[in-house]
Amino acid sequence: MPLNEIQSRLENACKKAGRDMSQVHLIAVSKVQPNQRVQHVLQQGHRVFGENKVQEASAKWPEFKKEFSGISTHLIGPLQTNKVNAALELFDAIHTIDRPKLAAKIANAIQARSVAPQLFVQVNTGQEPQKAGVLPADLDGFIKQCRDEFGLSISGLMVIPPITEEPSLHFALLAKMAKRNGLAGLSMGMSSDFESAIALGATHIRVGSAIFGDRVLAAK
Ligand SMILES: *Cc1c(COP(=O)(O)O)cnc(C)c1O
Repeated sequence: MPLNEIQSRLENACKKAGRDMSQVHLIAVSKVQPNQRVQHVLQQGHRVFGENKVQEASAKWPEFKKEFSGISTHLIGPLQTNKVNAALELFDAIHTIDRPKLAAKIANAIQARSVAPQLFVQVNTGQEPQKAGVLPADLDGFIKQCRDEFGLSISGLMVIPPITEEPSLHFALLAKMAKRNGLAGLSMGMSSDFESAIALGATHIRVGSAIFGDRVLAAK
């Protein structure tokens, strides 16, 4: 399993960009991967993982957390409002805030808890009808609403670029949007493009198949 290889590519990309490695968090995306592969990556010492479904994560991470300490889990898939409480139990970060109803629900649920997760707003930079995320034109207003109306502390922005377009254009756009909103976090870059995401300022890269191998089921 090439976790080491991905880490050294990450290190090289940081060097090239003149960035400190500690600024870039590698999220190992373990969705749909057999537990054995996940266990192997845990045994190699990696502790930061991403999942795209609450239910799948709940079947996997509470068990692994008993066995390995210091694990942090990131939700990188869409979140339904009726699963907010379950998500807050399971995840240390949520990358997919994309509508007022969800933001309000999270804000409410957080009040009853001692720790709040890190929160990212997903942006649909390609304006794809089938894709989740706030439209670029609505973003600044939505962030303001999250902050002023819901009292949420937003850490950054997240994007999944359209598969048919050059990802770096979308990474650059996301970086610009984050900057103008005073946000430091940039969740961008996957197996095929994380190096260009790092060059454009990614703070969280989400790498699945390049670490674990091909997903057994195609669940994008
Ligand atoms: C599956 C997934 C990834 C990882 O994709 P790979 O191409 O396997 O690296 C990253 N981000 C999101 C939102 C995903 O759903």
